Amino acid sequence: MRIAILSRNPKLYSTRRLVEACEQREHDVQVLNTLKCYMDIASHRPSIHYKGVGLEPFDAVIPRIGASVTFYGAAVLRQFEMMGAYPLNESVAITRSRDKLRSLQILARAGIGLPLTGFANMPDDTKDLIRLVGGAPLVVKMLEGTQGKGVVLAETSKAAESLIDAFKGLHAHFLVQEYIKEAGGADIRCLVVGGKVVAAMKRQAQAGEFRSNLHRGGTASLLKLTPEERSTATRAAKKMGLNVSGVDLLRSNHGPVVMEVNSSPGLEGIETATGKDVAAMIIKFIEENAKSNRTRTRGKG
Ligand code: ADP
Repeated sequence: MRIAILSRNPKLYSTRRLVEACEQREHDVQVLNTLKCYMDIASHRPSIHYKGVGLEPFDAVIPRIGASVTFYGAAVLRQFEMMGAYPLNESVAITRSRDKLRSLQILARAGIGLPLTGFANMPDDTKDLIRLVGGAPLVVKMLEGTQGKGVVLAETSKAAESLIDAFKGLHAHFLVQEYIKEAGGADIRCLVVGGKVVAAMKRQAQAGEFRSNLHRGGTASLLKLTPEERSTATRAAKKMGLNVSGVDLLRSNHGPVVMEVNSSPGLEGIETATGKDVAAMIIKFIEENAKSNRTRTRGKG
């Protein structure tokens, strides 16, 4: 098959592993820098140009689109979809997953376990917003943050109030969330491919830190998922419409709760922790599912 990988950096671990897996399975693979693709929108025959030439059609495209380039990346992917390429994750699902508010609403509507969460921009009653999520301690998150940036723990109501007031001053969207203390600074990353959890790891925060992001010094280890955790992860991925995703769970005393569903999950942490060849599983999924014009939305919706 002819497979394109949309990635801004071919040297990144995940990109390299996907290229390797394609080559091992004898596919013709090309890494395209998402931002350097340009498109002919107007014609009846949609095309994508790269380095001065129109690209030959691809059978499948693997989007590895960073949060900062979601807007343009989704447009490029949509163009591939219009040209009939099979996207590993559809542009519509990626755009949806990048909007934390919308994602949580989609998951809530499906009855999937979530931490008690409030959303606000300029709440006129901070105390009521705090009550809404069960009081302090609570977590305040900036909507645009990644890798734990802009995720803050307020231990007391007073701290929560001043924090929320500070966020209000920034005119940024933010969410206020019940602090899942019983998770003990650990979260669970489930790698879901084609409706199955193919690998999972526990990430434990450093001492004195509640954020378990590996970029913040968290450490990964193996764990055994409960059937409930497994089904929560697969249901969350399905509701988001993602074929491949990283579903982050917390173990709360009211069962597993979903924090986030990531549409371009990194492979380094999970492959290292589990020793599994996730990249090959992803390529195998493409082999089994890629058909021309098989996209559900073809960029519409
Ligand atoms: P990001 O998407 O920036 O990584 P997250 O929302 O995943 O931000 O939060 C970063 C980390 O903080 C999580 O991996 C988790 O360890 C911790 N965390 C986030 N929300 C909560 C919460 N409600 N209760 C307990 N820990 C949390």
